[in-house]
Amino acid sequence: MKQPEDLQPVVLNQNAEVVLSKRYYRKGPDGEPLEDATGLFWRVASAIAAEEGKYPDSSCRADELAREFYDLMTSWKFLPNSPTLMNAGTDLGQLAACFVLPVGDSIEEIFDAVKHAAMIHKSGGGTGFSFSRLRPAASRVGSTGGVASGPLSFLRIFNTATEQIKQGGTRRGANMGILRVDHPDILEFIRAKEREGEFNNFNLSVALTEDFMKAVEKGEEYPLMAPHSGEAKGTLNAREVFEILVQKAWESGDPGIVFIDRINRDNPTPAQGEMESTNPCGEQPLLPYEACNLGSVNLAGLYLAGHGSTADSIDWAELKRIIRLSVRFLDNVIDASRYPLDRITETVHRNRKIGLGVMGWADLLFQLRIPYDSQDAVKLAGRVMEFIRAEGRAASKQLAKERGPFPAYAESVFGQRDLGPYRNATITTIAPTGTLSILAGCSSGVEPLFALSFARHVMDGERLVEVNPYFEQALKDEQCYSEKLMEAVTQKGSVQTMEHLPQHMRDVFVTAMDIEPVWHLKMQAAFQEYTDNAVSKTVNLPNSATIDDIRSIYWMAYERGCKGVTVYRDGCKQSQVLCTGDGE
Ligand code: ADP
Repeated sequence: MKQPEDLQPVVLNQNAEVVLSKRYYRKGPDGEPLEDATGLFWRVASAIAAEEGKYPDSSCRADELAREFYDLMTSWKFLPNSPTLMNAGTDLGQLAACFVLPVGDSIEEIFDAVKHAAMIHKSGGGTGFSFSRLRPAASRVGSTGGVASGPLSFLRIFNTATEQIKQGGTRRGANMGILRVDHPDILEFIRAKEREGEFNNFNLSVALTEDFMKAVEKGEEYPLMAPHSGEAKGTLNAREVFEILVQKAWESGDPGIVFIDRINRDNPTPAQGEMESTNPCGEQPLLPYEACNLGSVNLAGLYLAGHGSTADSIDWAELKRIIRLSVRFLDNVIDASRYPLDRITETVHRNRKIGLGVMGWADLLFQLRIPYDSQDAVKLAGRVMEFIRAEGRAASKQLAKERGPFPAYAESVFGQRDLGPYRNATITTIAPTGTLSILAGCSSGVEPLFALSFARHVMDGERLVEVNPYFEQALKDEQCYSEKLMEAVTQKGSVQTMEHLPQHMRDVFVTAMDIEPVWHLKMQAAFQEYTDNAVSKTVNLPNSATIDDIRSIYWMAYERGCKGVTVYRDGCKQSQVLCTGDGE
């Protein structure tokens, strides 16, 4: 589609400009950009809208839709995940952020997975693996009479391979490595990141089963099993394992935990097998060889000023319009994407999973003057996500009418319970939106702000300073604004100790570290209740957080129905992505 001359120009914030030109613009052989922001968003909008032409019963015209998609993205109301922005309409054409690959218990299968991961990383996607099928270290290897080296030694190979493949310039691959808690090598896995820098291209998570959690509750032993032979391999004390897990997470943030039975309880297509891993940041459980593309609605822009009640201060009609359009966009991305393996194409096309989520949540709360750590905020989270899920499903139903349901619909839980038909086996996921939120200039995902003013290290040590615009505006409205105050806030990140500021300001403008852990969990659980896949959430804690704090966070995540949880104690690693002035 030819780029129309009357497209609205894109207004970029300073950080977006840096990120786009470093990584997202298509570049020529001399490294010079071949496009600007208008060119990028038109490339994406037109490539995704062109898929409409394949469906004769479509209710939309491709050229009109391309304009709508362009306006949707460039008004920062919705953005698709990074690989779509980078690769749509290019020769590479790989548009999904999330993949899960199987790792089988043989040298051939292990190295196939290493190769496939390399292909995915090259295309900008992240990979998740379960290592639970590998025989434990020191087991016999039938074909050679030797002994196996176990999941950890192979994980190291994946980590090294990732290190060597830089993605499209500077994006290094991201991985999730999962091991079931009943694998005989579990203790070694839990301790894998004891040395700083080890397995640094991996997030590690332990897959906890319901049986294990019950054993922790009762203080009982639980059985270990060699996956390749089904042989019992002794028992461990569940509480002791849980304690080591908590201790290690306190030390380094790893491993996180996923509740694997819960993930499978919500598996929409159990006839195709079990889910054993998630994508790198944990928000997207997938079947082996499955991929998923994500997209996020920016809630920050949906605030309506001048209305009395909270409900009237959110533009629900606009949210509905955005959701309808975004679901169509993400469904088209599935067809527009070229996957690195035929197996992946088949699995993706069979289930057609998409993951629509949100960003800018903390910014919306700021505008509404609702503290993140309040029951009102938690209630509103449920209400917003319930709305998104309902409208997302309605949109997917409409697509099923035009294009047919996802091919595995009949065997899926929806088909079995006669709930559909839907076009997509899953519709909602809440992603971290690490880069998308920079582009849109909003707070990331459903996280509270890390700091009201802070320095962000992105790519190659570049440092970007950011002041939250709603905070700045509120200070001006309250006549509290001064350069001196702003400097102090950049140093501290938080205003909790600034007693000269009105209490209601300190209540509303809270940061991740100001919030009691329980509120992080309540918020995650509220969004999870209405999300098909999972919610990316890190419980950020001050350096002073104790092991008891981590233990109770893990336990609360279990009790409140979360699918997993990640904690991060400020300063527990030497290099971290975000830091306040105090941390430097
Ligand atoms: P973005 O904002 O760039 O779209 P997110 O921070 O929302 O990405 O992450 C979403 C998913 O994208 C992650 O869970 C992971 O699957 C993938 N991803 C993120 N960063 C990387 C990376 N550096 N390399 C590969 N995949 C990544």
